[in-house]
Amino acid sequence: MSHPSVAGSPPGTHLWRALTRSPVALAAASMAGLAVLAALIGPLLSPYDPFNPATLNLLDGFTPPLGEGMSGNRFLLGSDAQGRDMLTTILIGSRLSLLVALAATLFSLTVGVSLGLAAGYLGGWIDAAIMRLADIQLTFPGILIALLVFGVAQRLIPTLDDPIRRPPAPEAAALVEVEGLRRSFAAGPRGLLRRREGERRLAVDDVSFTIPRGQTYGLVGESGSGKSTIARLIAGLMPTEAGEVRIDGQPVGARGRRTGRIQMIFQDPMSSLNPRLTVRDIVAEPIRTLGLAGTAGEVTEQVAELLRRVRLEPGAMHRYPHQFSGGQRQRIAIARALSSRPEFIICDEPTSALNVSVQAQVLELMAGLQQDFGLTYLLISHNLAVVRQMADRVGVLSRGRLVEEGPTRAVFDAPQAEYTRALLAAVPRIPRGAGAAA
Ligand code: ADP
Ligand code: MG
Repeated sequence: MSHPSVAGSPPGTHLWRALTRSPVALAAASMAGLAVLAALIGPLLSPYDPFNPATLNLLDGFTPPLGEGMSGNRFLLGSDAQGRDMLTTILIGSRLSLLVALAATLFSLTVGVSLGLAAGYLGGWIDAAIMRLADIQLTFPGILIALLVFGVAQRLIPTLDDPIRRPPAPEAAALVEVEGLRRSFAAGPRGLLRRREGERRLAVDDVSFTIPRGQTYGLVGESGSGKSTIARLIAGLMPTEAGEVRIDGQPVGARGRRTGRIQMIFQDPMSSLNPRLTVRDIVAEPIRTLGLAGTAGEVTEQVAELLRRVRLEPGAMHRYPHQFSGGQRQRIAIARALSSRPEFIICDEPTSALNVSVQAQVLELMAGLQQDFGLTYLLISHNLAVVRQMADRVGVLSRGRLVEEGPTRAVFDAPQAEYTRALLAAVPRIPRGAGAAA
């Protein structure tokens, strides 16, 4: 819409007189003006960026407002659970609110004025019809209309209730093929006398599945069901007893990981990151061994780019793993996994050691990286919510066997196996109104 300039008497004289005569109006106007000013320039003044997870430190969480008896407090109004500055959050929030209000006003103005013009100029039955429609609309509470619009939009845009998952690519070719995988371990306690030949227990028993390129396969099952063993077998970290794993049609043996095409991310980044190396050396190691960069400068450049990709500041390069929060450490592990330019990443309980909000951030990051790099994931988790959100297909593992397998929605909405039903029923639900997530 264009804004024609007002001609004639100086604009606003009327308004100005009305304002100066009423102190209440003047007070209200100046408060509104202040709010607009804060929304306009506030985000420029604040040193914090709540949208950049790399600058957040969970240790800053729930800081009280200034003057509440905490030394070294940087936050005027305190911080929230994730250590975000409350003042910044309010400033950015007011900017958003104003924008939404502006957009809504413009929209209703456009619709209202054109309908009014149509009714006025055309008259007759058109006028009557528009007036009756307006009457009907006015008798509805706004919230009902909002719910109606949301309900329809949710049907039209299926991703609305699943922000992370994208629709699976049609008939994607299989990148990973797992066929008849089997592995057993010596049963019972290890001892010189106890350990006899033949006493073995199957940890993975005839497991087969395929993962199309660019998709996520979720593997769920209770603790001890054999998930991590499958991960290690596929990665070639442990010899198989039977079966085969193929990537792009080629069997992967112990070579799999050496080419850097397969990478792994583990539950506990503290134990998978070398505590004596700086983040730069940790992330650079695969780049060096695979010869993906020439000079030391190029290595540093690639490391900086990878850190940026996982939303860590470049300064993180010179620090050590213990100087980061759990979520940040998992970002470092992801950057390291990405550094060899893999096609396939095996994620064994990648977010199980993180709290719920950080877990969501890491999953979102993983989903974004998958899209950017066309990655294929094997996502192992005992957390059904995580798998449901991320996976295109799911396999349910019980005592080393796949008891059920299929598209995520089908498995969760209509589980066929008794074990899957039991697993779904065992998920503890947080009662509504119970407050913050555990
Ligand atoms: P999950 O990851 O699903 O919790 P694992 O794959 O770690 O399960 O373990 C599956 C079974 O194999 C368990 O009974 C475990 O005790 C056994 N197991 C795993 N690794 C070894 C090993 N290196 N030596 C002996 N037994 C093992
Ligand atoms: Mg495990």
